[in-house]
Amino acid sequence: MTDERMAAGARTSLPAWPERVEVDPSGRCFALLGVGDEASEIIRGWLRSVDRPVWTLQADDAASASESLAAQLREARVGWRLMLAGHEVDVLALRSQALSAGALEEEVRCQVTARERVVVHCAHCATDTEVMAVAGDRTVCGGCGQLLHIYSHVSWLRGSHLGFRADVEAFR
Ligand SMILES: [Zn+2]
Repeated sequence: MTDERMAAGARTSLPAWPERVEVDPSGRCFALLGVGDEASEIIRGWLRSVDRPVWTLQADDAASASESLAAQLREARVGWRLMLAGHEVDVLALRSQALSAGALEEEVRCQVTARERVVVHCAHCATDTEVMAVAGDRTVCGGCGQLLHIYSHVSWLRGSHLGFRADVEAFR
């Protein structure tokens, strides 16, 4: 966690993910949702420390977890807590879904297992493109085909990074 990208992230709106995330002791019931193989060990650890009603799901990607999460969100009551584990791009997407459905930031905890994949939101055509990249890299927009510079600015409500035309960025 000491590489330059992490240090740069600390100065921007990129989330500073904690190394180790514990279950919120004030929660009354929990939804534990893991995406990807790396998440299963984290989910097992959380399960061991929960002695209250708990729902768990292990999914291959954020899209396949989305419908189950929506059902959980509809039933959520006071004291409900969502714990997400997985790749940053999946965690951001599911977190955005929860917040959009009315969950509070304090009700959602995230443990990120990796972060070399991002969703880039094109500032020019509004297309979201998922790519193997990190903030600071360049990528081609899947919508308008322009070369985008990937900013470390993350939209919490969309879960995506902002992308601007790379040649525009060069003149700043
Ligand atoms: Zn575009």
